[in-house]
Amino acid sequence: MKCKLCLQDKDLLKKSHIVPNFLYKELREKDNSFVKANLEKLTKQPVYTGFFEPNILCQTCDNELLSKLEEYAYKIIYDSKKIKGVKIVNEINSHGVEWTMCRGVDYTKLKLFLLSMLWRFSISSNEFYKFVDLGKHEEIIRKMIFENNAGDVLDYPCSISSYRKHTDLPFKLMSQPLRHRNENGGICYTVVMQGFCYTFYISRELLPDIISEIVINKNNELKVIHLPKDSATKIVRKYMRLNV
Ligand SMILES: [Zn+2]
Repeated sequence: MKCKLCLQDKDLLKKSHIVPNFLYKELREKDNSFVKANLEKLTKQPVYTGFFEPNILCQTCDNELLSKLEEYAYKIIYDSKKIKGVKIVNEINSHGVEWTMCRGVDYTKLKLFLLSMLWRFSISSNEFYKFVDLGKHEEIIRKMIFENNAGDVLDYPCSISSYRKHTDLPFKLMSQPLRHRNENGGICYTVVMQGFCYTFYISRELLPDIISEIVINKNNELKVIHLPKDSATKIVRKYMRLNV
């Protein structure tokens, strides 16, 4: 069968991650199921298989190419002290806007990791990811991942914001990735996982003005905005459909 990443005829794995392993470790419940928020059921529900998919990737693409990106992203998110040259500082401006400035983060590795997640949502045939359909962008992004080419800063940028400091809001959840439009009318996809909100911007010509200041850039800097309580609550309500 044909691997969806390298496009070669190979034996495909019976189980490939759609969501990288480490991103849902906090979602694990005691019975080893996972918890996700589904728009239609409007409730939390345990799932056992939706994070994996059979017959999409070969061993080399999954266990080598994608795993390397995942290992790097894991270290950046949970263990950045172990990466030489990475500096993470919390900052605040005079308007009270808070963010975490991450410096020394490898542009290519982190960006391709983020894109690989979006791409897997798109290729998945699981109901849970049905709102993600990248159309012609799916092939462009596949090539970027396979050729290790993260493109320009404004090619499919992904903003990351956090509400993890609001510990009373639920974060052991993954939302269904949704398609929507930004304030300029450009197509975006947003998924909320473990207290982080990831937004992928597809239409390059309709990006929000602030985007180049916050997404990972070629100086290896990334700004993770800390959402104020009211914005964080709105996001949980909108994407998780939870009445918080
Ligand atoms: Zn492959």
